[in-house]
Amino acid sequence: GIDNLANFEKLAVLGHGNGGTVYKVCHRPTNVIYALKVLRFMEEPEMVQQRAFSEVEILRRVDSGFVVMCHGVFENGFSGADGIEDICFLLEYMEGGSLHDLLRKHPMLSENAISGIARSVLEGLHYLHSMQIVHSDIKPSNLLINRKGEVKIADFGVSRCIAGVDKEQCPSYMGTCAYMSPERIDPDRWDGVHSDGFAGDVWSLGVVVMECFVGHFPLIKPEEKPDWINLMCAICFEEKREMPETASAEIQSFVMRCLQRDWKIRGTVEELLVHPFVTKFEESAAEHLFYYASVM
Ligand code: ATP
Ligand code: MG
Repeated sequence: GIDNLANFEKLAVLGHGNGGTVYKVCHRPTNVIYALKVLRFMEEPEMVQQRAFSEVEILRRVDSGFVVMCHGVFENGFSGADGIEDICFLLEYMEGGSLHDLLRKHPMLSENAISGIARSVLEGLHYLHSMQIVHSDIKPSNLLINRKGEVKIADFGVSRCIAGVDKEQCPSYMGTCAYMSPERIDPDRWDGVHSDGFAGDVWSLGVVVMECFVGHFPLIKPEEKPDWINLMCAICFEEKREMPETASAEIQSFVMRCLQRDWKIRGTVEELLVHPFVTKFEESAAEHLFYYASVM
């Protein structure tokens, strides 16, 4: 096992996020490459610390081929003379980077590849939801691809565990709200008794699938500003969220089930795992994803 960070060499920066930096690192004794996510606590509000600790709790528990694997958690791995505290997650390295990066190079993916992405995310959500974990931040930058073309869910910074958690104490959302469901944006739609939040992850997947097909964030027009008011109107009230006519009946129906505004009648993970859009491309999706991963 790996018990400290002394044998790791930083090779490059893979990404920056809310309160953290992700490095590409090499474990010298074995020459194995990992990703190291470092969250620094310098004068950070308590909220950030709370987020980090819930991420630790979740990463320690999850073990699925559809969720980015965590090989270890280190407290104060880099805190030295400066006294700044940190927490580090040693993660499986995903060579292809995020779906966000992929979409920048290939804004419109084949339905085949999108179907593979949808299936992987649904499998990951199925696993997480069975562990009573709501991801809460499904978006392209949190879906990572490896050299084999496998897609996995990453970033548990805002996720939460349902069981035994007081909803009032949950870390509040800090990133973009663009992929958030109507019931999270508008608390009046949220029925705290019956809604557990799982349906929100399905909504976010629907936005991602549509984005992969149309080539831009799909809920507002490319020329519109993605500010809070435009986003909120688009998510909660706008009537039309139509897919282009070139879209197959299967992907249209899949997106409609995910983007059902009323979470009570939205498609469930179980239903969508056997949706024709997912089953139709079962055989060929992996090959398409492998192609995209290899031309990154
Ligand atoms: P944000 O708040 O923007 O979502 P974050 O601080 O929560 O970011 P992550 O989402 O975990 O951090 O990672 C930020 C970026 O770093 C990712 O979008 C991805 O580009 C890169 N990255 C993270 N983990 C890995 C990994 N295991 N392998 C390769 N790249 C990674
Ligand atoms: Mg992220």
